[in-house]
Amino acid sequence: MSGWQAHFITLFPEMFPGSLGKSLTGRALDNGVWHYITHNLRDFGEGRHKNVDDTPSGGGPSMVLRADIAGAAIDAVRVDAPDLPLVLPSPRGEVLTQSSVRELADGNGVIFLCNRFEGVDERIIEAYDVREVSIGDYILSGGEPAALVMVDAILRLLPGVIGDAASHDEESFANGLLEYPQYTRPAIWRGRSIPEALTSGDHARVAGWRATTSAALTKARRPDLWAARCDDKKPKKLSEKAKKPSEKERPPEKR
Ligand code: SAH
Repeated sequence: MSGWQAHFITLFPEMFPGSLGKSLTGRALDNGVWHYITHNLRDFGEGRHKNVDDTPSGGGPSMVLRADIAGAAIDAVRVDAPDLPLVLPSPRGEVLTQSSVRELADGNGVIFLCNRFEGVDERIIEAYDVREVSIGDYILSGGEPAALVMVDAILRLLPGVIGDAASHDEESFANGLLEYPQYTRPAIWRGRSIPEALTSGDHARVAGWRATTSAALTKARRPDLWAARCDDKKPKKLSEKAKKPSEKERPPEKR
């Protein structure tokens, strides 16, 4: 199998490829740009009922995914995919951003450990190099929808998934700003017309309008993004490069 690979360790293999099997990502799947493999956690379960979870140590409601079961599943997947990063969708993880999506898209694939319980035994997170990733500050009922979201975001960055590569550069977050408003025909709808600059045919005016609205939207809706962007643009007092002594100034290396 070729292309970027997604491994989903899950109790619900039928949830995949889900939305990823349709539209752009579905076509990319058919074209071999990526492929996915599901690994049923139940197969690693114990006893007659193939149990994978148990009550939390110290008490409390709900259940915890057992370390021995999760470990066996991860080891089995790693036989054929030893070098892929292991991602645990988790509300306490680093919050997914376009730059972490880019980083995952630049690799060969990801193994997702999709959990349905209150949590995973912490020893799994310690023993394996687990990257905990959240898709936002809210609680889902399981890791599968989060994994679908992450893979969707990753796939659209792979070559050949979106027809026009230039569209990435225009999108929200690509340049640290939210995207400008979009319009299409009809020219007037319910008395509302399209901003005149966009229909002027003047490319410089169009670009100017888009830059201005994009900045205004970002300032109004996402002051955090706006502030981060302004920080990036501030000239650094002393750049890293300037701090480094030049070849001549550097003391000779100890022999
Ligand atoms: N008790 C946990 C939440 C459990 S929700 C806590 O308070 O942190 C059940 C599972 O859904 C989690 O183990 C995780 O795999 C997934 N999940 C829930 N919310 C998520 C989010 N925002 N991002 C990524 N995964 C999430």
